[in-house]
Amino acid sequence: MFGAGIPVLFIVGLVIYLRNKVEEDYNNRHPNQPELLSTTPRLDASVKGLDGQTIEAYPVTLLSESRRLPRPNDNTCPICLSEYQAKEMIRTIPDCEHYFHAVCIDEWLKLNAACPLCQICSTLCGSQTVRFPFRLIDQPQYCGYQDFELSCQVQETTQDVTILTFPYAGNFSVFHIDYAQQVLQLSYSEGCLPRILLQGLNLSGSPFMSVNTQSYTFYNCSTMVQYPGVTKIPCLSGFNFYVVAILTDGYTPLTSVCLEIAKVMVPMSTDWWEDGMTLGWNQPDCRWCESHQGTCLFENVGAGLQARCGSAIKHGMLH
Ligand SMILES: [Zn+2]
Ligand SMILES: [Zn+2]
Repeated sequence: MFGAGIPVLFIVGLVIYLRNKVEEDYNNRHPNQPELLSTTPRLDASVKGLDGQTIEAYPVTLLSESRRLPRPNDNTCPICLSEYQAKEMIRTIPDCEHYFHAVCIDEWLKLNAACPLCQICSTLCGSQTVRFPFRLIDQPQYCGYQDFELSCQVQETTQDVTILTFPYAGNFSVFHIDYAQQVLQLSYSEGCLPRILLQGLNLSGSPFMSVNTQSYTFYNCSTMVQYPGVTKIPCLSGFNFYVVAILTDGYTPLTSVCLEIAKVMVPMSTDWWEDGMTLGWNQPDCRWCESHQGTCLFENVGAGLQARCGSAIKHGMLH
């Protein structure tokens, strides 16, 4: 979490600054003549913001009485945290289609060229990038879905570990998220994955599922068998017996030398017997967006797993 801590604090600080500033501006300004520029403090030369012309080129929407937003995803401005009201100007960042009160985002963009949501939401845990549709447990809701919540376990001597908790199957360490393919590689943190597979891996209550399962037959053998395709499972084996698994199809059953325990559907990973597992997710479907360098976004914050793809500049948003 060290990686995420500093930017979050930085952004929280800026958000507080901007909120105070916006309130001040609301109290001070003339209705038709917002004097934001004159009250803006001198900028630190190391801070890279956008010039006024670039900011002005980003599309704005004047909210109608019905307060219909450019795309319905949230009715609260993430910078000042107040609800959008009729007749307010909303500015959309073209690259990602996140939007904010113009008065809020303009101040931000003068200090920092990157979208605050994109910046705060993409974070590192160890070497793992965590971003939409995932979010870390201490990140705001608008960063990702509750079902995709991860926690970052701080380690003293090694890299921080990203943990995914299943309602029934327990904790798994995430060691790779493939955002383009929508699969993740996990390892079981609490011991013996083959034991969990034998008991029945219960992934219900989570959007993740096996993408490629194969049936293995588990055997209990009194001596170690050396047939091709036989995988020894150390965490289930004992002093004088060996638990092994072999693909159910295409291999000769070991019943002459071993006792069959069960047939088990294994979510395939090259090292499943050493607690590795590959799972995937179908919803939200960001595959097209990821492969087209888009920014995948909520369709509606807090409702369903639909996502949309933010990218190209939308024209004619002023209405
Ligand atoms: Zn605002
Ligand atoms: Zn953004």
